[in-house]
Amino acid sequence: PRSPHPWVYFEGQVVAAAEALVPVTTQAFNYGTAVFEGIRAYVAGCGGLNVFRLDDHLKRLENSARLLQLENLPRRAEMKAIILDLLRRNEATTDSYVRPLAYKKALLPGVGFGVKLTGVSNGLVINTLPMGAYMPAGGIRCAISSWRRIPDVSLPARAKITGSYANSALAMESAQRNGFDDALMLNVHGNLAESTTSNVFVVKDGCLITPPLSAHILEGITRDAVMTLAREELGLQVIERDISFSELFSVDECFLAGTGVEIVPVTQIDHYVLQESGVGEISAAIKSLYLQTVKGLNSKYAHWLSPVSD
Ligand code: PMP
Repeated sequence: PRSPHPWVYFEGQVVAAAEALVPVTTQAFNYGTAVFEGIRAYVAGCGGLNVFRLDDHLKRLENSARLLQLENLPRRAEMKAIILDLLRRNEATTDSYVRPLAYKKALLPGVGFGVKLTGVSNGLVINTLPMGAYMPAGGIRCAISSWRRIPDVSLPARAKITGSYANSALAMESAQRNGFDDALMLNVHGNLAESTTSNVFVVKDGCLITPPLSAHILEGITRDAVMTLAREELGLQVIERDISFSELFSVDECFLAGTGVEIVPVTQIDHYVLQESGVGEISAAIKSLYLQTVKGLNSKYAHWLSPVSD
């Protein structure tokens, strides 16, 4: 096993991972009031490490932070420098994962006990770890969860708030206990939203279809990359529209798209087998194109990569 990265950015300094500790009274720990990002860095085909779509992840983090009034985030350029420097400090030479987390910390002096956003200090921690592909190459089986995705009017899915992940954990737990690998989640309207930690695409008659942003989903960066690559490189028609529960049983292919899972074909939805013969053709083509792109083998998309070495 690869040794973990020893250094963590914590509250303005780089410290040993064991020293990045928060008190039990931390607001975010008690109430789920933190926002975060999951970012990947890949070893380039020609050597060196590149962070994939760092600017887009940081922009989303800024928007999530604004919602929870986490005002103290360093500016974009500084955040980028902190992350790239941390990867260098950790001597990351293999595919890695970067997790910035901005959180509500402690009640300011004189502020009364309670659940709130103002009158609370803010913290920022960034940790990195070695992480390669972790999903099976042969695809996965997905349950359709009884747990619905949290509606936008309750807790916006477009913001990456830690508290929302209790909803994902409930869906994942139930799916795995029932023998599946992950769950597809419907929204309160009964249409497909997303998976527990990724967006969803289906293929029908050669077209790529994915739920619209109004379907109570996270505006995934991998989702955006897939739509771009499918249109530009494969010449596919990509449609953002609602996908009903029943339509899920008549699609030709399905795959999940997210930073962590990367592109993972779904070979079975509930007990309906999509691919008797393995992974679908379009899913396989998208996956291969995506992996080439993140590894810097697709020079047209070099602007999506931030080199770690200076
Ligand atoms: N939806 C959810 C609920 C997620 O947690 C993630 C992972 N961040 C995604 C979608 C995919 O987003 P991205 O491609 O930006 O990682």
